[in-house]
Amino acid sequence: MAYEPLHVDREGRIIEELPCSACGHSLRGQSAGAACPGCGETIALSTLGRAVCRVDERGLLDESLRCSTCGYDLRGIDPAGACPECHVPVGQSLEGNLLRYGDPRWTKKVGDGMLLYVIAISLAILLGIGAALLRIFIKDAAVIALVTIVAQVVSGIFSIVALWWATAPDPDTPLTAQNRMGANIARLCVIPAIVGGGAIGAATPFATSQQGQLIAMMLQVPVGLLNLAVAIGLLLHLRELARRVVDEKLANWARTILWLNVIGAVLGIGALVIIVSASAVTGLPLPSPGQQPAGAMLGAGIASGALGCLGILLSIIATIWMIVLLFKLRKYFPAASRAASARETFRTAGR
Ligand SMILES: [Zn+2]
Ligand SMILES: [Zn+2]
Repeated sequence: MAYEPLHVDREGRIIEELPCSACGHSLRGQSAGAACPGCGETIALSTLGRAVCRVDERGLLDESLRCSTCGYDLRGIDPAGACPECHVPVGQSLEGNLLRYGDPRWTKKVGDGMLLYVIAISLAILLGIGAALLRIFIKDAAVIALVTIVAQVVSGIFSIVALWWATAPDPDTPLTAQNRMGANIARLCVIPAIVGGGAIGAATPFATSQQGQLIAMMLQVPVGLLNLAVAIGLLLHLRELARRVVDEKLANWARTILWLNVIGAVLGIGALVIIVSASAVTGLPLPSPGQQPAGAMLGAGIASGALGCLGILLSIIATIWMIVLLFKLRKYFPAASRAASARETFRTAGR
């Protein structure tokens, strides 16, 4: 199978016959980044990561494209042809690193990793709610600590395996160190984040003194930052993957979610700093549910609560969007794995 760049005109409209993969509706004349007018499915799913190449009336490249081998500017060259300097096919420069040419075992693993990560997030949320409910009914600190540790270990193992698969390096087209940065950040931070979160969750029930509570609260800041780093790393990597299936919309969306996460975390940390420093300065106890806080703590409590609620709200939105993003991006991977398998079979048969 040769390279199959998708030909579009100057305005970005598809100028070849292309049926929608979901409903069969002809996509000729549609913008490559739009949705199918027949069924509303995104057109990128029908082109499955074919690189978009802008051609003029004669069918020659109408954009600046550096040859990936020698750097020659390929403008004005037939996209089905080869570089005049080094004779490497233009297709290699257009879409040599795209998902549809990836190792099918790798694409399957990455797709499975994304699904597992969605399960891991859902599991962590369910276990968190379960642990909070348990705290209402059971007052024994040792039991709460034990349950917290078990819940953290279970959801932690899920998250680590999921993250490792979703960020698995492509054996054929290794990313540059810079483009691989997100994957490395996420992998580096996930284990300390889970271990730290579990340790604090297990120790907090024993912290009964005013000072112990303060320390437990402040220790949540580094763990929160580690979790933020995991989310940022994963989102940076998802953006790279979205670029490889050529879905710029998803790539931009990953960036939006990344900033939502950052703002949510900054607000959360701000809320924590306000209440803890107010307590440290005044020497008054931290406000606890059901108790009227002392005068000086009331203002700090309201400010901190408002910031904290906003931060939590943004983080919840970011988490839901992250799950939707993972689902949308994941759709490409089984299809890419099939396309790549078919190509391998074709190649073996042709030999
Ligand atoms: Zn359709
Ligand atoms: Zn060249």
